[in-house]
Amino acid sequence: MTVKVDVQTFPHFINGKWEAASSQETFDVYNPANGELVARVAKGTTEDVDRAVNAARAAFDQGDWRNMKPKDRAKVLYAISYQIAEHAEELAYLEAISSGGTVRRIGSSDILQMVDLFQTLANFTVEYPFSETLPLPPFPGPAHNFIWREPIGVCAAITPWNLPMVIATWKIAPALAMGNTIVIKPASYTPLSTLKLAEIISSVVPPGVINVVSGPGAAVGEALVNHPKVDKVAFTGSTEVGRRIMGLAAGSIKKTTLELGGKSPNILLEDADLSIALPGSLFGVFLHSGQLCESGTRLFVPDKLYDQVVEGLVALTSKLKLGNPLDPATDVGPVISKKQKETILAYIEAGQQEGATLVCGGKEVRVAGCEEGHYIEPTIFTNVTNDMKIAQEEIFGPVLCVIRYSDLDEAIRMANDTIYGLAAGVWTRDVNKAYAVARKLQAGVVWINDWHMLRSDTPFGGYKQSGIGREMGQQSLDAYTQVKHVHTSMTPELERRNWYGILFGQNK
Ligand code: NAD
Repeated sequence: MTVKVDVQTFPHFINGKWEAASSQETFDVYNPANGELVARVAKGTTEDVDRAVNAARAAFDQGDWRNMKPKDRAKVLYAISYQIAEHAEELAYLEAISSGGTVRRIGSSDILQMVDLFQTLANFTVEYPFSETLPLPPFPGPAHNFIWREPIGVCAAITPWNLPMVIATWKIAPALAMGNTIVIKPASYTPLSTLKLAEIISSVVPPGVINVVSGPGAAVGEALVNHPKVDKVAFTGSTEVGRRIMGLAAGSIKKTTLELGGKSPNILLEDADLSIALPGSLFGVFLHSGQLCESGTRLFVPDKLYDQVVEGLVALTSKLKLGNPLDPATDVGPVISKKQKETILAYIEAGQQEGATLVCGGKEVRVAGCEEGHYIEPTIFTNVTNDMKIAQEEIFGPVLCVIRYSDLDEAIRMANDTIYGLAAGVWTRDVNKAYAVARKLQAGVVWINDWHMLRSDTPFGGYKQSGIGREMGQQSLDAYTQVKHVHTSMTPELERRNWYGILFGQNK
């Protein structure tokens, strides 16, 4: 990565322009890889939220965007995808220096996912049933009936720090595709790439269609959720904050989609091909230092394979190279902050206190040249039972819990014994057995002999307390539209109207 961009100051992005915070205050953004200050960012207030929402409202009400023909809006979505590809290096750099994601992952996956999502939703937009004509009904009387799908209006998107750009895109792409306008509040650790993305997108959409206000969740996030001119809230983050947002949104019955936490079970069957299942399971849990909501953090292993699997996992994990995410040789980067590092270390301590066996990792690491970074060794616990704190709570760090099982029904019962239901996985050579297990797992996605495989044309979201609604796929477009039924009577004579007899039966 050779590009070095000026990341000194990032204002808000409102109505197609960079705008300072009304308070003139900023907050600092640090690189989790080495602790360096990388940017100062406008610290939003309710006044800034108001400006951004008013810009989004005006752009929506003015109508150029929402009234554009779907095929023309689809062309704009394609233009956005080309812009993202053109600015890939800069976006990847901003993402890496604030989120700690490796450039290897961001370059070879995140950017491609974003480009693909805009193009896929553009294609769906052309085919989308914005207007459907229903057949003439026999009852309650001849009429033409239409179903119209219309944009909801001003959408608020609140995003987390782990995959800032990708998750913002999951909201921006369907919102724009359906003709809405949007205000995004990125997480305070990672606003840079989202701000740049908004500037890039803004070069091809009318002013006010996309806006970003940075700042603390409690102030800026809540001001957005409470704002009377916001029609929909799309949130990705912790289940705890999701509950708070759902409560606030209830005040004005705002449409809400929530993508929340996970504690995803990964079940190895006795006939699994371990040459793929072991590296695959480690990819499932250690990608981005375990800071992914759908990470496979609980690995269920049959008695018969237990020792062999543990030995194999430890051997492979010991090969992973921790380091600066900007170094293409790095396998695992830092965790997001000192606070997160301490939370993870406290969970590792709790696991040992509860009687789990630490067989690998467990300590913080000093990386040469990045001494102020926040690194934790990929960690494996064995002899974990499913009721332990480390098996029930979302750690959001590089910690794998290996849980033994003796019969498959017991494994499935434990797999489902969690408040979460985001993802799950099964490794086996028998695809029919895999489908039977997948059918019983309570999760929004089940991977068979794979992990982290999200596609733009498939829905992603949670069962149980992992969320409400779906992102990506056709379902994400439905989540950014509201449905109107339009009825036109085709019965010219008063006497033949069904309702005439109902109310005026006496006078007929
Ligand atoms: P978080 O819940 O702490 O914060 C998420 C966002 O909400 C941030 O922008 C934050 O500033 C804002 N926020 C905080 N308090 C708020 C409030 N009271 N009102 C409005 N907004 C508020 O989550 P995080 O620590 O940034 O991210 C990690 C969490 O996100 C994990 O639990 C992870 O599982 C979850 N996550 C879920 C998905 C998914 O698709 N299901 C994807 C990624 C991350």
